[in-house]
Amino acid sequence: MSSKKVRVRFAPSPTGGLHLGGVRTVLYNYLFAKQHKGDFILRIEDTDQSRYVPGAEEYIFNCLQWTGLEPDESAIQGGQYGPYRQSERKSLYKTYAEQLIKDGYAYYAFDTPEELEKMRNDFKTAVNPSPQYDHNIRNKMRNSLTLTAAEVQQLLDAGTRHVIRIKMPANETVSFTDMIRGDVSFDTAVVDDKVLLKADGMPTYHLAVVVDDYLMKITHAFRGEEWLPSAPVHVLLWKYLFGSDNMPEWAHLPLILGPNGKLSKRDGAKYGFPVFAMNWLDPKTNELTEGFKEKGFLPEAFINMLALLGWNDGSVQEIFTKEALIEKFSMERVHSGGAKFDYEKAKWFNHEWIKRLPAADLAQQVKPFFEAKSINIADEKLLIKVIDLVKERCHLLTDFVEQGSFFFTTPEKFDVDAVKPKWNEAKALFFAEVIRNFELSTLWNAAELEHNFKEMAAANQVKPGEVLLPLRIMLVGGKFGPHVFDIAALLGKEETIKRIKHFLRLL
Ligand code: GLU
Repeated sequence: MSSKKVRVRFAPSPTGGLHLGGVRTVLYNYLFAKQHKGDFILRIEDTDQSRYVPGAEEYIFNCLQWTGLEPDESAIQGGQYGPYRQSERKSLYKTYAEQLIKDGYAYYAFDTPEELEKMRNDFKTAVNPSPQYDHNIRNKMRNSLTLTAAEVQQLLDAGTRHVIRIKMPANETVSFTDMIRGDVSFDTAVVDDKVLLKADGMPTYHLAVVVDDYLMKITHAFRGEEWLPSAPVHVLLWKYLFGSDNMPEWAHLPLILGPNGKLSKRDGAKYGFPVFAMNWLDPKTNELTEGFKEKGFLPEAFINMLALLGWNDGSVQEIFTKEALIEKFSMERVHSGGAKFDYEKAKWFNHEWIKRLPAADLAQQVKPFFEAKSINIADEKLLIKVIDLVKERCHLLTDFVEQGSFFFTTPEKFDVDAVKPKWNEAKALFFAEVIRNFELSTLWNAAELEHNFKEMAAANQVKPGEVLLPLRIMLVGGKFGPHVFDIAALLGKEETIKRIKHFLRLL
């Protein structure tokens, strides 16, 4: 690698939520930048105004903040290479497009939509059902290659709508070395003459990405595999405009696959692919989509899981902190094949992180989930104790609500039916004694309560196994939760007795 300062960029188009693949691109950029003490830039590629989704940009920023993968330079952070929104750089691109025309690498094309439609019909054959505007066709169209200089000037002077297209070589091989795939080559004959500058003066992605990567001194460009077919266009534009020396190194990241192939939108709805819920309706499904955040994932677990979707450090280690990932990550170890996303495995990562994080840290992240269910947490110390007590049972942060809400509010329902069939006079007498004993208890801790409870059971000749479940249901509402005497200890004397009495009345 050269001695230049590493500068990488994530360049999303604000056209919707950020999905798994997008955040993994962010992550690999971030890790690479931090490892090389470089800069991570966020550039908003909003040149396609027709696909712009209001709110999407803010959403991207929020996602990066939640995941802790914040850029060093962006439209918000600022930086020396701004503006960081392509729409605000519009005037820049035209000069480069015109330079390409001057040098013979691009041309003006005046074809109307009708003429383009006609071309697609006229040149359609069985072997080529959708002809492209390419080296075969361009000589038959209305552009600065077929018109005289005077005609072109006249059309331009008259303000005729036109685009600027790249003139792809008819027969060349374009090659470059991808950091993941190694040497890749393309035959230019099969690549069409992509539009570089649109009729509204906006650049297309192809021109803007090359110009901006150059002006922002990008040294490495990591992006999704779907951009690999466009790479020859970008390589040529680089050569034509800036020479080959400055070209960033590219890495095309593999697709993320679902358990049965490509991740579908349906999978997204099921597993919450956006990082967190979009506050707009998904234009494709017209629904509000839940994201990983709302599903109860921890950012630490989320990025750990994402890092391993297509990469490993060569060992069997799976749990990595962000710092460890910065140290260990390498693009060369990213697999070129698609990476399989498995939701159960994602939950496993989350569980591992829940077990590892201190309860006090978890408390901050868990609290909003209780609040969303209208459970007010007035006592943070109690929350921390509850978290420690139930964390082994929680895979998602939402599980804490299920496993822990009865500590903060009386259960809404009690599973009376689980107790009733086996309820008898002996048990009723036993629990009456439990109430009396608990009321007199001075040492309110789990060991003491368990000891007393079992002694009373023996004295009353009831099997502890037959009264433990009822006690649990009295305190929790159902057949779940941690050790029942730990629950009673945390609930406190007054509340424990209140719930037992309440349940006896229900019976
Ligand atoms: N704007 C492109 C996208 O949204 C960026 C591709 C790239 O990083 O070059 O996928």
